[in-house]
Amino acid sequence: MVMSRGWIFQQKQKRSTQTFGPRMMMTIRDKLTRRQRRLACGMFIALLCFVAGMCGTAALSPWFLALAIPGFLAFFSFNLLMMFGVRCPSCGENLGFAMMWPPQLTFKVPRKVRFCQFCGVNFDKEIGN
Ligand SMILES: [Zn+2]
Repeated sequence: MVMSRGWIFQQKQKRSTQTFGPRMMMTIRDKLTRRQRRLACGMFIALLCFVAGMCGTAALSPWFLALAIPGFLAFFSFNLLMMFGVRCPSCGENLGFAMMWPPQLTFKVPRKVRFCQFCGVNFDKEIGN
């Protein structure tokens, strides 16, 4: 039982895309995933600033609006970037909406999505950094 679970874990590790750390060659999928994860990180930090600012405004002092308003604007901007700023490295078309379908919370290119819908390039094709 333990052995078979280990085998499954190994298979999963092999399939997962490495998006952090040094790597000689990366695929288009890795590149898109990295961009999407960075934007998602920024979005969550901005959301935290906004929430902290609003809580501070309500509980402590109106000066916390100086944290809440930029947090909200940054959150809004990161949302727009996730929709319009994720581009195919091959043809430059907007892939933001394609990356959001099927819905998921992992912020990576879904395994089921294999090709760019505009130019047809394979997302598993290796490109340089
Ligand atoms: Zn393309």
